[in-house]
Amino acid sequence: MNKIEHIGIAVNSVKLAGDIYEKLLNTAVYKVEEVASEGVKTAFLQSGPNKIELLEATDPDSPIAKFITKKGEGMHHIAFEVNDIEAEMQRLKVEGFVLLNDVPKLGADNKLVCFVHPKGTNGVLIELCQSIG
Ligand code: ZN
Repeated sequence: MNKIEHIGIAVNSVKLAGDIYEKLLNTAVYKVEEVASEGVKTAFLQSGPNKIELLEATDPDSPIAKFITKKGEGMHHIAFEVNDIEAEMQRLKVEGFVLLNDVPKLGADNKLVCFVHPKGTNGVLIELCQSIG
């Protein structure tokens, strides 16, 4: 794994949270993108080398909606950048981690992604992501 690619924060409204994080980081949201397959709308901000992903549910059955119902708004996941997501998925499987998808999925921001179950990672949902051009 190369580095933390972004930190994901579950929010009720990407618009309202975007306004807050724009003030906090003193930079504008540079991209808003809906990922229909995940039932989520995302907004991205960049601060120095660090990226924040805000996630709003667009579907009441989506993972983000369930997370907010259970825990409220807050930090949702840490994403690590990888060069070869399939190799990392295989490596983690061998190490005994539980992956939430068997094959990489298309995520926001031109990434292939895979999530690692938080039960095996001390309560933190981990995302692997590989850029695709
Ligand atoms: Zn993410």
